[in-house]
Amino acid sequence: MILRVVNHKFHYEMENLCRVFYPYETIRVIRDDDGENDDITVVTELYGEYTVRVSVNIHGTTGTREKSVADYDDCEREMAILLFSLLSEISGYTPKWGILTGVRPSKLMNTLINEYGDKGAKKYFTDKLLVCEKKTELAYEVAKAEERIMSLSDEKSFSLYVSIPFCPTRCNYCSFVSHSIAQAKKLLPEYVENLCKEIRQTAEIANSLGLRLESIYWGGGTPTTLSAEMLEKICAEINSDFDLSHLREYTIEAGRADTVTPEKLRVIKSAGVGRISINPQTFNDDVLKAIGRRHTVDDVVRVFGEARDAGFDNINMDLIAGLTDDTYESFCNSVDRAIAMDPENITLHTLALKRSSTIVTHGVDVQSGEIANKMLEYAQNRFYCAGYRPYYMYRQSRSLGNLENVGWCKDGFECLYNVFMMEECHTVLAVGAGAVTKLKDPYSRNIERIFNYKYPYEYNSRYEVIAERKGQIKEFYDKIKRC
Ligand code: SF4
Repeated sequence: MILRVVNHKFHYEMENLCRVFYPYETIRVIRDDDGENDDITVVTELYGEYTVRVSVNIHGTTGTREKSVADYDDCEREMAILLFSLLSEISGYTPKWGILTGVRPSKLMNTLINEYGDKGAKKYFTDKLLVCEKKTELAYEVAKAEERIMSLSDEKSFSLYVSIPFCPTRCNYCSFVSHSIAQAKKLLPEYVENLCKEIRQTAEIANSLGLRLESIYWGGGTPTTLSAEMLEKICAEINSDFDLSHLREYTIEAGRADTVTPEKLRVIKSAGVGRISINPQTFNDDVLKAIGRRHTVDDVVRVFGEARDAGFDNINMDLIAGLTDDTYESFCNSVDRAIAMDPENITLHTLALKRSSTIVTHGVDVQSGEIANKMLEYAQNRFYCAGYRPYYMYRQSRSLGNLENVGWCKDGFECLYNVFMMEECHTVLAVGAGAVTKLKDPYSRNIERIFNYKYPYEYNSRYEVIAERKGQIKEFYDKIKRC
């Protein structure tokens, strides 16, 4: 597919929109009108003061639209509307989020509420961004829930993220740098040693700055891939280094049932972990096999029971709409089974076609955006009826139909970290390979990032560089104080 960009700078937005309609196409962006064509060619132009024009040729079906725009600042949105309407008409498919392609619809909703009020913000979504009514209401409800959670955070707040980038096998939709435990076993003891060092150093800095730890989240990867002894060692390091008297929430992802044992559950529970995530993704064994998981649905049910027995009264379950070999009926069954198990949270993701995932590199078939949306609608109705409410939302780029991921929970069980992190309302100090510390200036929108090495072997072999970069945390807070 060719996207020609003539005389404007809106190529990023136009490319994103093309991808919503044609997720499998490789899009070649060509500057200016050099006449080159492909089976699908889209030409976007800006000329004069100001006219936007979009012409498309989709396998021989052509169309052109243009519009005069009074203000340059509206040109990008108006061009996107022309492109959206042409592609919708020709493909017969109208994406539910309209021309809104950003990753945080609820954040935008919040900004618009502050500017135009509740009604005006919803109207902006439906009229100016062509978002359908249902998604608008969803974004609004999430924005309100997020606002309540964000108000818990102040300038001294921070969260701690612990990265454990290891998994038993790689899921076919995954592009994380998660190392299979079989390959990485020999790296683990040194990894845990370095991680403990980094935790200690991070705590010293946070304590010296008078920062207040509000939430802890272990992700990855699958943290429960570590042995019970390793989990215990890291938990003990955190508990002895940080002041936990202000901690509101402590989560460890125990995503893959084949990594969880009663012993590990006991260890993390007695270390103060209050929330875990057990992620079935689907309740269909054939689909589990197709996506590359080694556990079964029965394993998920067993581990869930063991977690309850260990005293966990705040459990999340992740599901994904649009997995390989899944059908609408099978997905609906997964939703029903998840609800029947009565977890406090259910996070519903839409499959995203990540560039380096097996799905993309091997061209595996996936569901259409329309079916994926039907799945989400079924789940949404069932969640509401079962007493769950949406409280957090984001979108991944290249998700089927440009659809959303939403955290649903029973009243009072919102995962605070998810909102703190997604809405970037306070600093996240992150430790481990692939972790990214985000330093948030509480008095502005400014965020500075410190990147750790991605791969565990680099993290181990160049740990002293990571240790040195930690100095940037203090520099950042000193700078804020001076301003
Ligand atoms: S469990 Fe998550 S991190 Fe691990 S391979 Fe699967 S998608 Fe990737």
